[in-house]
Amino acid sequence: MPKKDAKSVILGGGFGGLFTALELAGAGDVTLVDEQDHFLFKPMLYEYLSGEVEAWHIAPSFSDLLDDVRLVRGGVTSIDLLGGSVTVTGRQSPITYDVLVMALGATTNYWGVEGAAEFTLPFREIDDANRLRRRMTDTLDHIQPDAAPQDSREALTFAVVGGGASGV
Ligand SMILES: Cc1cc2nc3c(=O)[nH]c(=O)nc-3n(C[C@H](O)[C@H](O)[C@H](O)COP(=O)(O)OP(=O)(O)OC[C@H]3O[C@@H](n4cnc5c(N)ncnc54)[C@H](O)[C@@H]3O)c2cc1C
Repeated sequence: MPKKDAKSVILGGGFGGLFTALELAGAGDVTLVDEQDHFLFKPMLYEYLSGEVEAWHIAPSFSDLLDDVRLVRGGVTSIDLLGGSVTVTGRQSPITYDVLVMALGATTNYWGVEGAAEFTLPFREIDDANRLRRRMTDTLDHIQPDAAPQDSREALTFAVVGGGASGV
């Protein structure tokens, strides 16, 4: 547990960062830095894609979730571990800290598969789900109502690559 007046800075407000912030709130000076203004409950991202839930159900804003935590919106671009500070986009001066929590998550890993980054859609953020939904509805809109079933099926074939939690 940091000392009472310690300045804690948490980078990333996903599962790791948000729950750290909830635990540390009120224990000294706590700052959460995220490039988004909201948490995202990723396990329900596909329910958002299919329209079963709205964005506000799975992406509540940090300000609704956190009290006693300073919120900084911006992208972390560098960390000075020796000097104890973090540079964030849109801020003139670095944010200093006594305790640093790194919880910036992960990115989609294409494992070096050629063309994967250029020709596939990732599925990790709200924007990804919106992009995928637009692509699916655009595709549907291009199907003629009197198209033969096999033609509709062919035009509406989507390939999901990766059979983990998100893919399945
Ligand atoms: C579609 C989907 C479904 C999933 N379903 C499940 C499930 O059912 N069960 C399960 O256990 N796990 C599931 N997972 C995995 C789970 O979501 C992750 O393990 C978890 O989110 C990781 O938490 P994290 O805090 O490390 O990172 P994240 O939750 O990804 O949070 C990282 C945060 O850092 C912020 N950030 C990143 N880079 C920067 C930067 N440079 N500057 C500022 N902020 C930044 C991001 O905006 C984000 O808020 C799923 C993942 C996906 C994508």
